[in-house]
Amino acid sequence: MILLLLGAPGSGKGTQGRRLSEHFKIPYLASGDLLRRAIEQDTAFGRQVREYIERGLYVPDNIMVPAAIAELHRLRGDDGGAVLDGFPRTREQAESLDAALTERGVSLDRVLLLEVPRDVLVPRLAGRRVCRSCNASYHVETKPPKVDSVCDICGGEVYQRVDDKPEMVDDRLRVYFERTWPLVAYFKGKDRLAQVDGNRPESEVTAALVAAANGQLAR
Ligand code: AMP
Repeated sequence: MILLLLGAPGSGKGTQGRRLSEHFKIPYLASGDLLRRAIEQDTAFGRQVREYIERGLYVPDNIMVPAAIAELHRLRGDDGGAVLDGFPRTREQAESLDAALTERGVSLDRVLLLEVPRDVLVPRLAGRRVCRSCNASYHVETKPPKVDSVCDICGGEVYQRVDDKPEMVDDRLRVYFERTWPLVAYFKGKDRLAQVDGNRPESEVTAALVAAANGQLAR
């Protein structure tokens, strides 16, 4: 099963992607994590993409697409599934992914759209903190780590992403609505979209996503 989580920054894709990955026992691939890891490791690819991320801009398709598709093939093996978070993010990326999967005789089974009102996204993003090592997500008010700045799961450093700083949040949301929102219509047209209310407790959102993903399998 290949699932795609779609939704604005702060809609819960990372948290829910990890939960779906555990539930279905399939690998989780977050394009943002892939990019941040490359930056952290200071690879040539990391140096190429750093500035885009720090400015809240999308990495150009010609750089992003080959990296994300190579990582997807590596993670899912020849016939396994995957949960995708953050890729594809543009129409061009979606078409490239469709073509790459078709070549391997598979396709995206379900696109799960997490719907969260904009006035909830802004405080979620501004208060978000993440683990530098395992990428687990926290929130200063609603979900702080047990020990300040230390990840509950792996003991890594919990920090604020540079693109979560309040002055960048509006720009990122604008880019999302301009460039990624059109994918909702694209996947609706292909009859693969399920819309899920993401403004609920985490476990309720997971249950709704699992049901939506299984609905597709039963068809
Ligand atoms: P995320 O962790 O998904 O919020 O992604 C963080 C940042 O990485 C984004 O703001 C973009 O700069 C970049 N990024 C992640 N995925 C993509 C993608 N599919 N296409 C272009 N840029 C991306």
